[in-house]
Amino acid sequence: MPGFELFGAEERKEVNDVLETGILMRYGFDGPRKGIWKAAAMEAAVCSTFGCTHAMLLSSGTAALTTAMAALGIGYGDEVIIPSFTFVASFEAIISVGAVPVMVDVDDTLTLAPDAVRAAITPRTKCIMPVHMCGSMADLGALQDICAAHNLILLEDACQSIGGSYRGKMLGTIGHAGTFSFDFVKTITCAEGGVVMTNSKEVYEKCDGYTDHGHDHKGADRGADLHPFIGYNFRISELNAAVGLAQIAKLNQFLSIQRRNHAALKACLADIPGISFRRIPDPEGDSCTFLSWFLPTEELTRAAVAEMKAKGILAGSFYWFDNNWHYIRKWDHLKHSITLNRLHPDHQAAIMAQANKDFSASDAIMGRCVSTSISLLWTPEQLQTRGEQMAAVIRKVMSGQSVAV
Ligand SMILES: *Cc1c(COP(=O)(O)O)cnc(C)c1O
Repeated sequence: MPGFELFGAEERKEVNDVLETGILMRYGFDGPRKGIWKAAAMEAAVCSTFGCTHAMLLSSGTAALTTAMAALGIGYGDEVIIPSFTFVASFEAIISVGAVPVMVDVDDTLTLAPDAVRAAITPRTKCIMPVHMCGSMADLGALQDICAAHNLILLEDACQSIGGSYRGKMLGTIGHAGTFSFDFVKTITCAEGGVVMTNSKEVYEKCDGYTDHGHDHKGADRGADLHPFIGYNFRISELNAAVGLAQIAKLNQFLSIQRRNHAALKACLADIPGISFRRIPDPEGDSCTFLSWFLPTEELTRAAVAEMKAKGILAGSFYWFDNNWHYIRKWDHLKHSITLNRLHPDHQAAIMAQANKDFSASDAIMGRCVSTSISLLWTPEQLQTRGEQMAAVIRKVMSGQSVAV
C-alpha cells in the first residue's frame, strides 16, 4: 500500500536538487533557487496525472480538507455529512471551520450509504463529504444525484484512494473539490503533505491564499502582497514536495503491483464458504490498497482476528470496529466534544448530538469487516504463504473448530 516501501534513488535525487540550492521554501527567492520549484512541479504533475485543472499542494491531508472547506465557504451554521467509518481528520477539519460533522451510516461499500445520507439532510446541510476508504470508492453516482437535488457541495476525501477512479474519472477530481493525503503511510508520500484538487479557478485561488496567510501572490515581491482575506500557514516545504515528485512518477508502478497482489490474495480467499468482500461501485476503479472482507457474524470475525493474532499473521490486517482512529464507536473525545479551545455552546451541543446517535446499521457492517493491506514488497511466495495461512484460519473459524474465545 504505502509508497514508502519503494523509496530510493529517485526520491534522493529530487531532494538533493533542493539541498543543492538551499532554498527550502516554495515561494520567493527566485534568483538563488536556480529554477528549482518542486512544489509547483508537483502541482503540475497532480493536474496531469489525475485530470484536474488546479491543484494546491499543502502540508497535510487534514490541512487539505480544512482549506477546501474554507474555500468552498463552509463554516458557521453549516452541517457536513460524513461517514461513521473514516479517519478522525474528517471531523477535525469540519469542526475547525466552525461547522458540524453529521456522521451517517456506511453500507457494504464501507462508505456513505446513500439512503442514510438522504435521511440526514436538513435545511442546514451544506456539503456531503464521501470518504473513499481503504482504496475504493463511495457510490458517487448516487451522491452526485443527491447533491444536485438539494444544491449541496460534494467534497471528496480521497486521501486513502490515490489512483482509484469512478466511471473513468480519478477519485478526488469528481466533486467540487477533492483531497489527497501524502502522509507517510499513503499510496504516495511526501513524508507529510496533501493536496486540494478542483476545476474551479475561484476555489483554487482561495486555497492558494488560505494556505499562506491570505497572500494574494499577485506580484513578484512577497512583502508587497495584499491579503484579501485571513489565512493560515499550511504551506508545504520544497523538501517534502521533492519526495512527492519522485513518488508521483512511480504511481502507476505502485498501482499495478497493488492490483496484482490484491488479485492473488483475493483468489486465495474467494472460495471459502461464508466469506464475502466489500461491494465496489465501480470495480475497475479500485486502487487495491486493501482487500476488505466480511465474515457472517461479529463473533466469527472476532474469532478469525484472534486466530490470526495467535498465528502471528494479524500485522497488516485491521479490525476497524475496535480501532481508535477510524470508527465512531471509539471516538469518545468527539462524543464528549473535548476540545482545548472553548467552542460556542450551540456548536458543542450539535457536535455531541450528532456523535451520540444510533449507529447500529454501521456496527452491523463494521463488526464483520477486516481490511488486509496490500504490500508492494511481497514476493509471490510470501503472498502465497500469507494467502494460505489466512485461508486456513478463516476455514477453521467457519467450520466451528475455534469456539474458545
Ligand atoms: C490520512 C487521511 C487523512 C489525513 O491526512 P494527513 O495527511 O495524515 O493529515 C484524511 N482523511 C483520510 C481518509 C485519511 O486516510
